[in-house]
Amino acid sequence: MTAQQDTLRFTFERYCDMIEGLQEAGRSFVGYDDEMESGDVLLRHDVDWSPANAERMAQLEANRGVSSTYFFLLTSPFYNLSYEANREAVSTILELGHDIGLHFSTHQYWSAEPDREELESAVQTERTVLSTLFDEEISTVSFHIPPEWVLRRSFDPFQSTYEERYFSDIAYRGDSNQRWRSDPPFADGIPEKVQILAHPGLWNDTDQLFEERLDAERRNHFADVSSFLEYQFVDDAVAR
Ligand SMILES: [Zn+2]
Repeated sequence: MTAQQDTLRFTFERYCDMIEGLQEAGRSFVGYDDEMESGDVLLRHDVDWSPANAERMAQLEANRGVSSTYFFLLTSPFYNLSYEANREAVSTILELGHDIGLHFSTHQYWSAEPDREELESAVQTERTVLSTLFDEEISTVSFHIPPEWVLRRSFDPFQSTYEERYFSDIAYRGDSNQRWRSDPPFADGIPEKVQILAHPGLWNDTDQLFEERLDAERRNHFADVSSFLEYQFVDDAVAR
């Protein structure tokens, strides 16, 4: 394996190397409510598949004194935040000192750009739900697979991770679809101010290609649903 392939592995070990590299370069990790200064890093995680995997990443960061922001979907077919195991994962992430935000999927509501009021109203509803579930103020929203019409746009009721001050005015590095695999995030040096997006679901103990991660996710969810059905409806003790 060449040095470059080694750098691009999507393992938690490599993820921690990246975090530690930023720390060794003197960078500070800040949140969306902080005023960014030179050398600051905004570290964000959009949780598309698994709060449990997000919790693992959160623990690795906390062990290194790093805090970040985890954005959760309320419209995912993969996880329900009221489900006990997921509730506990989010609570642990908060206890570790991280922030949470809303990962909002416009795709669940509209196929084309809606009125501003309609968009803000749907986001507000989901913010209220997330805020109520975890008794946390939810000030920041990250759009899931953002359509062009949310990019570089600001909203009055909330801050968006894709508004200009986080997306155009500073550097942006994302691992969407494991794009880092072909382009290391800091190949050209660490920018003065940067927002980094790392999807927890793309990282694990061992490296896999994106398609393999998707397959593993499918199998995991099938196994979870199967055992839930057994436990709730087949096992006598619970079902009767
Ligand atoms: Zn997403």
